[in-house]
Amino acid sequence: MKPPPFSYHDPRSVAEAVQLLSTLENPKLLAGGQSLMPMLNMRFVLPDHVIDLSKIDGLAYIRETAGALEIGAMTRQRDIEFSELIATKHPLLREGILNVGHRQTRNRGTIGGSLCHLDPAAEQVLVCLASDAIVTAAGPGSERAIPFREFPLAYMTPNLEPDEILIGIKIPLWPAGHGYSFLEFARRHGDFAVVSAAALLDIDAGGIIKRAAVALGGVAAVPLRMDALEAQLVGQKASEDLFRSTAETCRAIDAVADVHATVEYRQHLAAVLTRRALVQALSRVKR
Ligand SMILES: Cc1cc2nc3c(=O)[nH]c(=O)nc-3n(C[C@H](O)[C@H](O)[C@H](O)COP(=O)(O)OP(=O)(O)OC[C@H]3O[C@@H](n4cnc5c(N)ncnc54)[C@H](O)[C@@H]3O)c2cc1C
Repeated sequence: MKPPPFSYHDPRSVAEAVQLLSTLENPKLLAGGQSLMPMLNMRFVLPDHVIDLSKIDGLAYIRETAGALEIGAMTRQRDIEFSELIATKHPLLREGILNVGHRQTRNRGTIGGSLCHLDPAAEQVLVCLASDAIVTAAGPGSERAIPFREFPLAYMTPNLEPDEILIGIKIPLWPAGHGYSFLEFARRHGDFAVVSAAALLDIDAGGIIKRAAVALGGVAAVPLRMDALEAQLVGQKASEDLFRSTAETCRAIDAVADVHATVEYRQHLAAVLTRRALVQALSRVKR
């Protein structure tokens, strides 16, 4: 199928893009097009104007600043995949990206596009949630920082005003030697996950868990940060038995059912993947 007719705009600055977004009737932003183009072709969205962000300078970068990684919204997923900085400083993001689609889709797809599309099973979304990322949105005349926990408002609905553009992502770094793991179950490699789990662990010299982060994708309408489960881990001696018993609490998640999996199967996957992710994260801790 071909997309419906629309007017195409290619602004050269964020201010120009915001201006177009806030003044045009029924506009839609285009980043890598890996979700938007199929939605246009299938007539799930029918914009009158498409605003292409790819000609705006300065929206694609990966850099380290004062204990955090900063990534531009238009950074291609393939650039994240091959970034030495990310592999060294935030290996969870690289591990998540390797599960995103195919190299062809990662060549075009951007991190900002994935966060704004906000599929509940999207890997970059889950990594940002687990990592306490902060995203920056630009609107008419101002910018605002949004903790990623507050970014998913509802199913595929980001916390953005109609005239706001996501411009950057900031990910606070965990200490060197932290444990990490990204695991997912998908019917075929490159498909969206049925359920995915991301885990981060910081352990002291005596094996006590100082800090834990666990997030689950694909289980509910929005990705879930498992605060109560994390609280059960912190202060405890890390062990497979501890991970097994805490992960079992995932069987009580208010999961969704669809053509791919029942509620019970998603709860089961959540428990199994959480346990495995914590075990793998522990095995990767370097003291
Ligand atoms: C075959 C195939 C397999 C895939 N598999 C996976 C997978 O396993 N996991 C996964 O996570 N994704 C998968 N994807 C989706 C892919 O990761 C997309 O790249 C991503 O969802 C959207 O990024 P994009 O840059 O292509 O954004 P686009 O498709 O251009 O835009 C997506 C949406 O975000 C909005 N948007 C884009 N940028 C901004 C911005 N800066 N500010 C505000 N709104 C913005 C757009 O208006 C649109 O609504 C797959 C895609 C394909 C085609």
